[in-house]
Amino acid sequence: MVSVNHIHRLLNRHHVKGFLPEHEAEALYAVACKQAQKGLLLEVGSFCGRSAVYLGYAAKGSGQKVFSVDHHIGSEEHQLGEGYHDCAHYDAEAKRVDTLPDFRRTLRLCAMDDIVIPIVARSEVLAQVWSASLALIFIDGGHSLQQAKADCLGWVKHLAHDGVLAIHDIFENPDEGGQAPFLAMQAVMEQHALSLVARTGSLVFLKRNDYSL
Ligand code: MG
Repeated sequence: MVSVNHIHRLLNRHHVKGFLPEHEAEALYAVACKQAQKGLLLEVGSFCGRSAVYLGYAAKGSGQKVFSVDHHIGSEEHQLGEGYHDCAHYDAEAKRVDTLPDFRRTLRLCAMDDIVIPIVARSEVLAQVWSASLALIFIDGGHSLQQAKADCLGWVKHLAHDGVLAIHDIFENPDEGGQAPFLAMQAVMEQHALSLVARTGSLVFLKRNDYSL
């Protein structure tokens, strides 16, 4: 198993952009290494690929694969004029955000091309036709309430019996962050009999009530 510090350094050396703090990435990597022994991994919200590389190294250790789903046209907060807009991601000809080139650059520089499989799609559309069972689902997509719920409730149906659902940006207190992922987490826990088994910062890990991590 590759040390998480090696992955931190690799990503930093290549200036890979992202919003997953290192202590949360470390927790995600540990759970992903364990779950990769059981099956496939999938994340919703690739952005520039930081989390995909942690998941990729975890998958590689067990001969598994990671599916990374993103429409790559940016979430609400990434659009022109919004708080997290990055002009480096703006395609002036198409007049829209495009994070796919940066994501592919990350996979190439971190030698993840045969491990992390990019899927350019709206998450909820893909979830409707997906059929493989997933050992780990990491939700870090759009932060509107509608999108956060669609992601959690759409993908939980594909969680293996011994699978783990991880959700990023959980803030109970509105002063600390947006409430949509938290409300989506509550909905998925109630509707699918999941319970919280671990937490690091704003990253939570849920499992079915009759299964332990
Ligand atoms: Mg996030």
